[in-house]
Amino acid sequence: MLRTGAQHLESLRDGRVVYIGNERVEDVTTHPAFREAAKTVAHLFDMKADPTRTDLWYEEEGERYAMYYLRPKTREDLKARTMAHLRIAEATLGMFGRSPDHVPSYITGMTAHPEIFDEGRKGFGQNLLNYYDYLRKNDLYASYAVLPPQAMRNPELFQRENRPVPSLRVVREDDDGVVITGMKMLATGAVLANEIWIGNILPLAKDQLAESITCAVPVNVKGLSLWSRRPIATAVTHPSEAPLSWRYDETDSMVLCEEVKVPWEKVFVHQNAELAKDIYVRTPGHSFSNHQSGVRFWAKVGFLVGLASRITQATGADKIPAVQDTLGRLAALEASIGSMVMGQIENYEDWGPGGTFKGYNRRGVYAVSNWCYEHYSPMIDIIRELCGGGVYQLPADNSVLDDPKLRETFETYWYTPQLDAVARMKLFRLAWDITGSEFASRHLSYEKAYLGAHFVVRNLNFKVAPWEKFHKIVDDILERDD
Ligand SMILES: Cc1cc2nc3c(=O)[nH]c(=O)nc-3n(C[C@H](O)[C@H](O)[C@H](O)COP(=O)(O)OP(=O)(O)OC[C@H]3O[C@@H](n4cnc5c(N)ncnc54)[C@H](O)[C@@H]3O)c2cc1C
Repeated sequence: MLRTGAQHLESLRDGRVVYIGNERVEDVTTHPAFREAAKTVAHLFDMKADPTRTDLWYEEEGERYAMYYLRPKTREDLKARTMAHLRIAEATLGMFGRSPDHVPSYITGMTAHPEIFDEGRKGFGQNLLNYYDYLRKNDLYASYAVLPPQAMRNPELFQRENRPVPSLRVVREDDDGVVITGMKMLATGAVLANEIWIGNILPLAKDQLAESITCAVPVNVKGLSLWSRRPIATAVTHPSEAPLSWRYDETDSMVLCEEVKVPWEKVFVHQNAELAKDIYVRTPGHSFSNHQSGVRFWAKVGFLVGLASRITQATGADKIPAVQDTLGRLAALEASIGSMVMGQIENYEDWGPGGTFKGYNRRGVYAVSNWCYEHYSPMIDIIRELCGGGVYQLPADNSVLDDPKLRETFETYWYTPQLDAVARMKLFRLAWDITGSEFASRHLSYEKAYLGAHFVVRNLNFKVAPWEKFHKIVDDILERDD
């Protein structure tokens, strides 16, 4: 069943506990902090529910499922997934990192090797397959929180001060499941989602058995609350003043669990510190989700290149050779990421029993992650530079347009041969929203943290590199002269 946007919005009115400061949000679909982002998500659901959008769903035994649940058996399947990610990312200009296709990509990738989950406890592999089926059959939006809160590197410091360690852990085990308490970081999109996957993407110490819990809970489960960071959208009074902040603030929240009951069917790892991290990298789960991130970034770069060019047209600098040189560089960056993303399909990998499950090339996936990390800030800086002082020439807000006298003055003095005053104001506000606003700043952080800190990204590249092949190149030339 593919749900419509309206059905998804209805599913969010489920009594979930969301705090903005001390305010308990009654309905995330109507609250000004989340309303517009919820509409964006609803639009993504409507796109997918459209029977003519065969690029966004696949059919199995007469039933339609979101393309991001497709378990690829061929290169064409991988490409179909990629193109679905791209269409979804384009619909948000690449501003929704944890769009509904991100976490399901993790889970779909993990289904290549459910037997790995049985290494922890027999039956957990089947739990994973059942959960995958539950998500895809009900067309659910899943988010995830797979990091401990900061400062958890040294849990012994808490114990020394006789304070409880705040990191999420199992506090009790019953016949029908486990009880979890504690905090996890940082569930982007959870406010707008149906489910939260809880786990550990970073290594745990061997004795962190209670923390190794990997499970899934509905957002409205009893005892769970989402503590939202400062919402960006509430500061915006009109969409044209900050078009990205207005509709694409995907939200980030700390997840707090206080005595949350998780039935065994939704437990995937328990009491196994090593396996808790391994499930992501011994399956194509991690590469599937980070492939989506690369595709999403590609869509974002397309937007940035277009924006840069429009800015130069508006300032009249577009014909200057040095400026065209800058635009050429940006266009080359867009072509680079597009080619790198598509190359991950060309050099696909075999997974699963008999190699029937296909996965994206991991070297390619992690190289793109590193590329994105290294290029995002410089690209934003270039656009900032191209804007010059244009963003500061604008009146404080759109209210000048409501006053006929002020509007006339504005339209006279702010007019340029390239663009009339109002169109110019809209364009530069858009540029500010991705270079200078609070939304822009959050995106600078996001692109530097979504997969982990940079050392984590480089370490992934180190681990998958074919060192033997590289060493042999050197050894061969050395041996030639023996
Ligand atoms: C906007 C945003 C959205 C996010 N969304 C999600 C989400 O949806 N789900 C989720 O689970 N998580 C999410 N995260 C969390 C994200 O994965 C973490 O922030 C990231 O892994 C970094 O971990 P940390 O914040 O604990 O930083 P830390 O690990 O404390 O690192 C902070 C900095 O310290 C330095 N540092 C620390 N250790 C080392 C080291 N060993 N070597 C070198 N330098 C080091 C680095 O400069 C590093 O950047 C999100 C984060 C942000 C900012």
